[in-house]
Amino acid sequence: MVLHYMPVGSDAATELLPTPEQREKMYRRIREFRGSKPIFSMDFQNDAEYVGGCIAGGRRYLHINAKGDVEPCVFIHYSNVNIHDTSLLDALKSPIFMAYHKGQPFNDNMLRPCPMLENPEYLRKMVKETGAVNTDYQSPEEVDALCDRTTPYAENWKPTADRLRESSKSGCRKGE
Ligand code: SF4
Repeated sequence: MVLHYMPVGSDAATELLPTPEQREKMYRRIREFRGSKPIFSMDFQNDAEYVGGCIAGGRRYLHINAKGDVEPCVFIHYSNVNIHDTSLLDALKSPIFMAYHKGQPFNDNMLRPCPMLENPEYLRKMVKETGAVNTDYQSPEEVDALCDRTTPYAENWKPTADRLRESSKSGCRKGE
């Protein structure tokens, strides 16, 4: 499993985010591994096509931090409820989880699955509309600061993601 750097937390360094060229290289390399090894290597950010997009918000998983805050994803530190005060079922029905449920998939292009990294307008809207509070106790930050940080990345990645999707659709994945 390959994970991508997530620029979460007020002191997160955006220069560590992969460039479109680096991300495309990873996309191709993982697919080469699959073609040559008897194992399904996974790329967390480039393989949403195999799971139908973002899996967070209880669609396939959720995250509970050390304090008990129930968060949609291990990378999304915004929450309305704490597991010490609510049942898991009610947590799944809490406002930000319902916003995830209504919003998924956040993009038709499975190379742009995330409401924070590739579609930050969604996270910004969901957090504000649901009144979810920040649950990052080490580096707390407003959702606007986080989404302002990921917006240039999202815009930069879009042309490459769209090109890769088109070439994948036309069936030339192996020779890309
Ligand atoms: S919120 Fe983003 S990082 Fe978390 S599961 Fe969804 S797409 Fe992946």
